[in-house]
Amino acid sequence: MDAVDALNETAFWLERELADSFKVQAFRRAAGIIAGLSQEELSARVRDGRLKRTKGIGSRTLEVISQSLGGTVPGYLEDLRRRGAEPLVDGGHKLDAKLRGDLHSHSNWSDGGSPIEAMAAAARILGREYLALTDHSPSLKIANGLNAERLMEQLTVVDEINNEQQSGFQLLAGIEVDILEDGQLDQSAEMLSQLDVVVASVHSKLRSDKRAMTRRMLAAIEDPHTNVLGHCTGRLVTGSRGTRPPSEFDAEKVFASCAEHSVAVEINSRPERQDPPEKLIQLALDAGCLFSIDSDAHAPGQLDFLQYGAERADANGVPADRIVTTWPVDRLLEWLQSKQ
Ligand SMILES: [Zn+2]
Ligand SMILES: [Zn+2]
Repeated sequence: MDAVDALNETAFWLERELADSFKVQAFRRAAGIIAGLSQEELSARVRDGRLKRTKGIGSRTLEVISQSLGGTVPGYLEDLRRRGAEPLVDGGHKLDAKLRGDLHSHSNWSDGGSPIEAMAAAARILGREYLALTDHSPSLKIANGLNAERLMEQLTVVDEINNEQQSGFQLLAGIEVDILEDGQLDQSAEMLSQLDVVVASVHSKLRSDKRAMTRRMLAAIEDPHTNVLGHCTGRLVTGSRGTRPPSEFDAEKVFASCAEHSVAVEINSRPERQDPPEKLIQLALDAGCLFSIDSDAHAPGQLDFLQYGAERADANGVPADRIVTTWPVDRLLEWLQSKQ
């Protein structure tokens, strides 16, 4: 087994089971340290003890590296894989198995914790066919949103990663674009048209009155670039950031517009969001909307949050075919491209 892959995968499974981040980072750091070394050089350094004396390499990371070089899956990783095969939730397993990818994730280019490469690697470990990288837009300063220049730079990184991938996985270029107060999207049309996926979300003035919020959301849904309406109510139901009630808008109008403009309503899988609430999932179903089950992952281990979203979609009777993330990637891309 490739030692760098083994270290990254170990970090991924630790993160998924919510291990301390210093422990997770130790494996990622070790992966970074040995990344540039050839197999021969690495073996030589293990044999003569140089690797053991290298700063950032501890006994556990050394063990994982040595066992990988020996051609086996490291025992520590094997245990983690076994635990990782256990589901996170009780229901929705069949639907979860049908999910092929994820249209909402963040890297350390905005407020995520890991490099783009680590997010892509984790998506591959989970057997995903694609992952959309959707870092924040400029007005979300607190999340280090990307201006057009940084987004252009990110596109070249996405291209490089796709060129290095074995077939069977694609990193889609995207954005989680802020819906500004007047309903405009927080990035130029020219820039948005270069992306594969546009998730549009409200992040500010969540307590606006119903009419203003409805108008704001409708304008964003009507924008020809919008593919997915992200976490539509903005509510927080649990977690370290505290709770927040859902924002108020005319859900029938908003979902009718989503259906008309072929904008998928996101089922945001984050445990603290669980957005939309059940009642709104039902309304969106009745309105004929498409859905996208997304992780909104800010770290590799969180990509597996899709299980939570699948459980909620299943419990609310959302048919798999109405969920764009169950579609074969060709069909998904055709749908995405039909917008621009
Ligand atoms: Zn968001
Ligand atoms: Zn997000």
